[in-house]
Amino acid sequence: MKVAITTKGDKASNVVAAKLIEYMSFYAFEMNEDNPDIVISVGGDGTLLYAFHKYKHRLRDTAFVGVHTGHLGFYADWLPSELESLVIALANTPFHSVKYPLLEVIVRFSNGEKELKILALNECTVKSVEGTFVIDVEIRGQLFETFRGDGLCISTPSGSTAYNKALGGAILHPSISAIQIAEMASINNRVFRTVGSPLILPSTHTCMLKPVSDVNFIMTVDHMRKELNDVKSIQCRVADETIQFARFRPFPFWNRVRDSFIR
Ligand code: NAP
Repeated sequence: MKVAITTKGDKASNVVAAKLIEYMSFYAFEMNEDNPDIVISVGGDGTLLYAFHKYKHRLRDTAFVGVHTGHLGFYADWLPSELESLVIALANTPFHSVKYPLLEVIVRFSNGEKELKILALNECTVKSVEGTFVIDVEIRGQLFETFRGDGLCISTPSGSTAYNKALGGAILHPSISAIQIAEMASINNRVFRTVGSPLILPSTHTCMLKPVSDVNFIMTVDHMRKELNDVKSIQCRVADETIQFARFRPFPFWNRVRDSFIR
């Protein structure tokens, strides 16, 4: 089995990564940074976001495992004290993998620039470079609303516990193939109206954002930020691709939600 390790780069994570390599040396693992079957991310959920973007070109052939060196994470759910069991499980068991939905974003430009296809594990947000963000929101080809406010956050089910949650979005179980659109401080008065609630779209529905006047935006995709100019449209839907997590034991999603947010 070919394994790659990505680490947050802090001292605690590097110590854990070195221990992993030591334990793995007793088994027939091959360290392979370019074409891994398994990527072990050591750090936090943020580290797994980096690992996902590093290996998103080989999602069909690679499964991810997250070891956390800080607090319990949603993607990083193994403890440093469980490293030996993790390596034994990896070496001995044909692992079961669970697949989580991803968000596909396609940005089209009016200046002839090639369209941009982006995959997100957590979410994509769109805001104005300056001034109020104004955008037409179309769902399944029909105008739904003209949004005015700070911005919009379009998240995956596994990203629903991240930025989306801070915006009052619902937590979605990652077995649901859907995306969620959450508002950032919408302007609602007698003149301007938005729905005011997060929307959950199934995998068969596409959401298209079309600029009304301003065509320059700031887009974030997971941990990355990009300025987009001359935007014609931003299309969001559930991606055909999924991310696979190697599972060696049950760890129900709702337990993770409870352990992270309630106790
Ligand atoms: P960061 O600002 O260093 O960390 C953001 C926090 O979000 C970290 O505590 C991270 O956990 C946590 N996180 C990441 N993915 C999560 C998930 N799926 N469920 C629950 N918590 C999650 O930034 P970063 O590490 O580069 O991560 C980028 C993410 O930050 C974005 O995708 C966005 O979701 C999130 N973010 C949140 C807010 C907000 O809540 N107001 C604002 C901006 C961005 P770890 O500590 O385990 O890494």
